[in-house]
Amino acid sequence: MYPLIDTHAHLDDIEDLDPAIAKARECGLIAIIAVGVDYESNNRVLEIAERYRSLVFPALGCHPGELRAVGTERNLQFIEDNVERAVGIGEIGLDYHKRVTSKASKEAQKQVLKDVLAIARRYAKPALVHSRYSWRDCFTIVQESGVERAVFHWYSGPMSVLHDLIRQGYFASATLAAGYHQEHRRAMIETPGDNLLLETDSPVVYRWGTEFAHPSEPADVTRVLEAVARLKGVEPGVVAQRTTENALMLFGLPNLPVPFILAVDKVQESRYNQN
Ligand SMILES: [Zn+2]
Repeated sequence: MYPLIDTHAHLDDIEDLDPAIAKARECGLIAIIAVGVDYESNNRVLEIAERYRSLVFPALGCHPGELRAVGTERNLQFIEDNVERAVGIGEIGLDYHKRVTSKASKEAQKQVLKDVLAIARRYAKPALVHSRYSWRDCFTIVQESGVERAVFHWYSGPMSVLHDLIRQGYFASATLAAGYHQEHRRAMIETPGDNLLLETDSPVVYRWGTEFAHPSEPADVTRVLEAVARLKGVEPGVVAQRTTENALMLFGLPNLPVPFILAVDKVQESRYNQN
């Protein structure tokens, strides 16, 4: 068991949260970043973080798929009013899937993204970025916003954008799609350990065998760890240590028990050796 951090979960969409949180603790998770997508969701995320203090840390967001003609301004104001309670700004970004652009145009999405990144920048918070089919535009806008810390979550885009975001010192995060999805796997192989994070985006249902034909939960980050370790051809402990350290640093969670990572790893190794 490794101390892991799920860096992107929609806890407010998980039906039975108490058992999911208990299972996450049992599986060694030391933190979960709960992301919000709109005004209502941001409110719930703050409540959930209060309820599971020292395990759940909130990020406040404005998802491109949740943009409304009315309500976005109110949400941005809410984010700004509560930004000090959050460890990050997200989920934010662009989504050029036609189901999304038919409701919110690319131009409207870009404007909101710029506005919310301005808050992230003003308060020096990391941005959690959704960039489906909009990878280049998203990277350019984040970079031009002057935000110094950002994670491109579930990154499955072109290598050229990935290389640029790595050069910029940004992160990419792996989901359960690291087990089966070709573009995501290629991106995760290419992302250096120093720029890599783990996440579940729960409760997303992944198409990875029958085992995952159910909503995911934060405890599934252990499976993401295994998938990434296999992709990179290294021990899970190595990936666990680096990704957990990356997340602690990115979200400024220094008081969590990192120093035990190596000790846990050694115990695990010696157990393997005995068998
Ligand atoms: Zn998400």
